[in-house]
Amino acid sequence: MIAQIIPQEFCLKCRGCCRFKKLDSAWSPCLLEEEIQDLLDKKIPPACISANKKLMPIPDPAEEGFICPFLRAEDNRCKIYDFRPFECRLYPFLINLRKGRVVLTLDLNCPYVTENLKKEEFKKYTESLISFLNSPAQIKLLKENPQIIQAYEDVLDIIELETPDGA
Ligand code: SF4
Ligand code: SF4
Repeated sequence: MIAQIIPQEFCLKCRGCCRFKKLDSAWSPCLLEEEIQDLLDKKIPPACISANKKLMPIPDPAEEGFICPFLRAEDNRCKIYDFRPFECRLYPFLINLRKGRVVLTLDLNCPYVTENLKKEEFKKYTESLISFLNSPAQIKLLKENPQIIQAYEDVLDIIELETPDGA
């Protein structure tokens, strides 16, 4: 399980996540195979999952653009917070495919990151996250879910991750 470093109250006042400019945004969370099955078992509408294994954005009722189908726009809360996807837990970190390498990256558009990047607590969190992602269970998870290794632009490279043989 990925621990959270960003306080919930900080995120609730921010509109940086769960909103997308385009329907086919690269930033819409990708789902693990087990998450797709879990969501379907929980009877979420299948239309919430796109053919390419991502959450399928819906039009934003308040303004231009799109939102995650699980964002409660009126109070900025996630309707599936307790079982939100791996990618949502990982953000503002992202697993990035860069010239055939799997790299842990960080989105500098997150205001919490820009305020805290140089703080000791953030550095320690980053180190523990790297250890977690390089554990055998997480390496296996990446091997079984190549769809979550995406190419994101304009992010800060942190470190190349270990990957399974043949990945
Ligand atoms: S951009 Fe950062 S601070 Fe804003 S909601 Fe997302 S994770 Fe929280
Ligand atoms: S599942 Fe929840 S945390 Fe993830 S993008 Fe949707 S509303 Fe945001």
